[in-house]
Amino acid sequence: MFECRFSEGLPCKMSNAKPRSESLFEASQRLMPGGVNSPVRAFQRVGGAPLFFRQAKGAWVTDEDGHQYIDYVGSYGPMILGHAHDAVIDAVTRTARNGLSFGAPTAIENELAELVQQYMPSLERLRMVSSGTEATMSAIRVARGYTGRDRIVKFEGCYHGHSDALLVKAGSGALTLGEPDSLGVPAAVAAQTITLPYNDIDALQTCFQTAGSEIAAVIIEPIAGNMGCVPAVAGFLDAIREQCDQSGSLLIFDEVMTGFRVARDGAQGLYGVKPDLTTLGKVIGGGMPVGAFGGREDVMSIVAPLGGVYQAGTLSGNPVAMAAGLATLELVTQDGFFEDITSTTEVLMTGFEDLAGQAGVSFTTNQVGAMFGIFFREPPTNSDGRVTTFDEVLAANSDAFNTFFHAMLKAGVYLAPSPFESGFVSSAHGEKEVAATLTAAADAFKQVSSN
Ligand SMILES: *Cc1c(COP(=O)(O)O)cnc(C)c1O
Repeated sequence: MFECRFSEGLPCKMSNAKPRSESLFEASQRLMPGGVNSPVRAFQRVGGAPLFFRQAKGAWVTDEDGHQYIDYVGSYGPMILGHAHDAVIDAVTRTARNGLSFGAPTAIENELAELVQQYMPSLERLRMVSSGTEATMSAIRVARGYTGRDRIVKFEGCYHGHSDALLVKAGSGALTLGEPDSLGVPAAVAAQTITLPYNDIDALQTCFQTAGSEIAAVIIEPIAGNMGCVPAVAGFLDAIREQCDQSGSLLIFDEVMTGFRVARDGAQGLYGVKPDLTTLGKVIGGGMPVGAFGGREDVMSIVAPLGGVYQAGTLSGNPVAMAAGLATLELVTQDGFFEDITSTTEVLMTGFEDLAGQAGVSFTTNQVGAMFGIFFREPPTNSDGRVTTFDEVLAANSDAFNTFFHAMLKAGVYLAPSPFESGFVSSAHGEKEVAATLTAAADAFKQVSSN
């Protein structure tokens, strides 16, 4: 039975009746494929039935049975201020009263675009869309339209949304044709995507020596967040920049996860590498459906109505979504915001590593800003002493992760239900939440070691 450790004054029901989440999941499976509207939510990797949430505030989420959890998912990234932040909710409700959507330009679109551009000046022109998938899909089309080339390069373990060109897995060699990673992706489309190992400069150079003149763009998560958290190693992004410059290919940073999450100027600010195009999402929408793509003025001038690359959206730049994003970014960009949230995350990661060590569990972490990855394995023996490749991620112990996940959940801590998701800390996570999380983790690591 569920133990309610961290009750915050809201009811924490303890009953023997079937949990409401389970009944809802039974019903949802008759409505939606797998009972969910996005696959990772279904708990398939960790087993068990997903929790249905009814409410969230700050660092805490409440499920349909009234149980409360400290949340490290943050809606998979957007909720960097914590849930239902007063400033964001006020902005959204105020804006909504003036109408939900006009299909015409609004002043607030300028405001959000200006704020993004202020901190990420590489986006000389940008366009708002409604999801990260839409942003990356559009950026790829722009790169192809601008260069007149079809091939694109992506990296193993990076996720860029679910458009056809980007749902491709690696062939066995650097230049074998990409194979579809999903049914329904035409082989001819997948064949235009080359997948290379992340953080492998040699493979990158070999690829460009052979195919550089055919490559429209390289797309990369400068800090991979969809295989745990795996930052680019020193020199890797510079090497990509150099290869792209030599061959006339465009460099696309997919900062849907890292933008306004690792620093206010994103991974491009942190690492000092300037992409030609950038994609954004998650935090810039503050929890509403928002994405954006943008970059060099000459490249973005190819987008309709100025140029021949078509891209459009009925709800693009939606005023309510812009209001949520603007209210969020206004707070996130304040001095000291990232210092605080980064040090909270550091305390958490150091605590996890110490506790795992005490329990004799093989374990290591990665962290950049308020984003982290936990890996049930020894630190790799590479020069960085940390996880830097997809193979190293895959070598982690998934049973240990599952045990840890369920032990934490039972103790009132909600982690992403997959070892391949990053964890996220919000500015609402304070000392109390970190301490409670570490108390839960001490016990969870013991359970892992005795399994
Ligand atoms: C989440 C994510 C996407 C996809 O965004 P959606 O809004 O889910 O379509 C693309 N790229 C990266 C790096 C992401 O983390």
